[in-house]
Amino acid sequence: MNAPTDNSRETHPPLAGRHAVVTGAGSGIGEAIAIELARLGATLTLVGRRAEPLNATRDKLAGQGHGIAVADITDHAAIGAALAEAAAARGAIAILINNAGAAKSAPLAKTEPALWNEMLTVNLTGTYNCTHAVLPGMQATRWGRIVNIASTAGLVGYAYVSAYCAAKHGVIGLTRALALEVAKQGITVNAVCPGYTDTPLLGGAVDNIVAKTGRSSDDAKTTLAASNPQGRLVQPEDVARTVGWLCLPGSDAIHGQSIPVAGGEVMAG
Ligand code: NAP
Repeated sequence: MNAPTDNSRETHPPLAGRHAVVTGAGSGIGEAIAIELARLGATLTLVGRRAEPLNATRDKLAGQGHGIAVADITDHAAIGAALAEAAAARGAIAILINNAGAAKSAPLAKTEPALWNEMLTVNLTGTYNCTHAVLPGMQATRWGRIVNIASTAGLVGYAYVSAYCAAKHGVIGLTRALALEVAKQGITVNAVCPGYTDTPLLGGAVDNIVAKTGRSSDDAKTTLAASNPQGRLVQPEDVARTVGWLCLPGSDAIHGQSIPVAGGEVMAG
């Protein structure tokens, strides 16, 4: 006779009935987070500026009823309208993963206002815009999970990325302040801080090193991986599993934290 199997997670996945929004879900870390949250039972709205990659991610998700919202997180009115439409279609937004972002590098003397403003707007103001849009709904239901994908660059400095570092430090400041504000409202707010992660965004950093040093892209990747004590690039799934854990109902005491997923590269103080 076969031993009884525990399939309760499959029949009652822990995030069943929760509507989760993941920004930047068409590639890299955002795609992996969407796959993980769908595996945990959530119904997803995938946000980005291009429909094609969002539809490609949607095709990979477990479960039914997922949707996409084509919107730019830097446009306060547009992202507000898109998230209101998503809530009307798939229910109150219970989980917000502020993942969309971009990283451009330059020495400060060559960081012109356009680059500075772009880094601050997409990484920091975009996080504010999405949070501002969904927070009242979470406060009304008295349950919510907000996870901001910051970076180790939100915890320590790196040369030649001062605008990106400033923006990601800002995301951690926003996380900490909002966590105190909503601490008694059933909502948790945390940041996850990946180290160098194997995604299209890292490809941009690798191309930059290749262009500036003439080294091969494998060589450039090896250098980036060497900054991780585990000697490897972080994988998008490493980040996604941490985000999934923070969204579980039992994670409600983990609040206001900035959690590195970086193989020991930086230690949160
Ligand atoms: P990625 O593959 O380049 O993904 C970024 C996503 O954000 C894209 O799907 C992009 O889609 C979306 N996006 C960019 N600007 C947007 C905007 N204005 N409005 C809406 N969506 C926008 O990068 P990734 O590596 O997965 O990065 C995800 C997050 O992790 C970022 O916040 C990044 O800073 C952070 N992070 C990455 C690393 C790393 O080494 N890869 C390390 C630490 C932290 P569209 O172009 O279609 O809009």
